[in-house]
Amino acid sequence: MSVLQKITSEDAIALEDKHGAHNYHPLPVVLQKGEGVFVWDVEGKKYYDFLSAYSAVNQGHCHPKIVKAMVEQAQTLTLTSRAFYNNVLGKFEKYATETFNFDKLLPMNTGAEAVETALKLCRKWAYEKKGIAENQAKIVVCENNFHGRTTTIISFSNDPVARKNFGPYTDGFIKIEYDNLEALKIVLENNSDIAGFLVEPIQGEAGVYVPSEGYLAGAKALCEEFGVLFIADEVQTGIARTGRLLATCGNCSCADKHCSGTPEVKPDILILGKALSGGAYPVSAVLANDPIMGVIKPGNHGSTFGGNPIAGAVGMAALEVVKEENLAQKAFDLGELFRAELSKFIADCNIVNAVRGKGLLNAILINDTEESSTAWDICMALKENGLLAKPTHGNIIRFAPPLVMNKEQLLDCVAIIIKTLKQFEK
Ligand SMILES: *Cc1c(COP(=O)(O)O)cnc(C)c1O
Repeated sequence: MSVLQKITSEDAIALEDKHGAHNYHPLPVVLQKGEGVFVWDVEGKKYYDFLSAYSAVNQGHCHPKIVKAMVEQAQTLTLTSRAFYNNVLGKFEKYATETFNFDKLLPMNTGAEAVETALKLCRKWAYEKKGIAENQAKIVVCENNFHGRTTTIISFSNDPVARKNFGPYTDGFIKIEYDNLEALKIVLENNSDIAGFLVEPIQGEAGVYVPSEGYLAGAKALCEEFGVLFIADEVQTGIARTGRLLATCGNCSCADKHCSGTPEVKPDILILGKALSGGAYPVSAVLANDPIMGVIKPGNHGSTFGGNPIAGAVGMAALEVVKEENLAQKAFDLGELFRAELSKFIADCNIVNAVRGKGLLNAILINDTEESSTAWDICMALKENGLLAKPTHGNIIRFAPPLVMNKEQLLDCVAIIIKTLKQFEK
């Protein structure tokens, strides 16, 4: 069977079911094509994509500029390893560090790898710069975090499904409540061995939890007071998703009015992934200034594919698209509109309790128990009505369309969502 041979949805699902590990529970839709905000299934049905591959496809499916950069680079040079220099990586590093206003970038491929890299960097900095005794460094993390799937990362997850029977776990993490500055203060006051605080500016996988106004700035101030690195995992929130180039957006050079008007906080270590490639290729990165990144020396860390020429070309094109098409501004404006329109509906319905989010990272809370299948059933009905979304945890549905959407399309989507929710009114 050739990969180009036509296949029905039923057959494609049966093949995965039989030959693939069952580590996901996908919505039963088999996609074969994507363009901008749309995807098509193998039977030719068209859908709005309201997940954007967990915010990897912020720039829209198959963005021509990104695809062109990828194809041209793929026809020229794909991989050298870092045993040799390549003519693309430095340009990408310059462009990305100027965009996000950091001295240095360390390229990796997936989000989890970039988180691992940030943890290693933070620990090494703590031993060599802060003077913490060997093997004593602790990193503070938040309850209900999602930072990826490696053994170390799941060691500090509190999701039993992600964690159970994968031990023994990596030591050195302290978990505190999210959006609780007092908890952070207490843990910093009572432990002298803390190297860093790892946090998602908005908890995406947990159900799009937006922290209180001032939480991130307050946490950063506490980190500064105690000489602890503030590590922002912006794998999901970054690259314009939340209506700014970064959700933490501290004096970066994105020239976006929302951003420069209200600088939030500048992380000591910034973790990016997902939309850093516009979904075309796995590209992730860790950014930091010289006093921190300088602790990494040859041989300390690496990746065969990290920083390869295709990744560099794709990453640069993906960031250019974000700037050229004002995607942060678009996400900000469309997000306001989306929440306003849904709020009107929610005011007198009984199936949804609330809508929340920032920019185009939003979620609705379904009025049913955590264990009920209502959120899943609603996603199935949305699919029938031409829009793809997925529940995050229990009864929460995340809505994160590509940022290249226009206003008319967004209102069309709002109409689909409201029509579908009405089918579930009690
Ligand atoms: C998706 C995600 C990751 C992990 O990225 P992968 O590319 O799936 O390894 C890490 N952190 C956050 C906040 C994410 O949303």
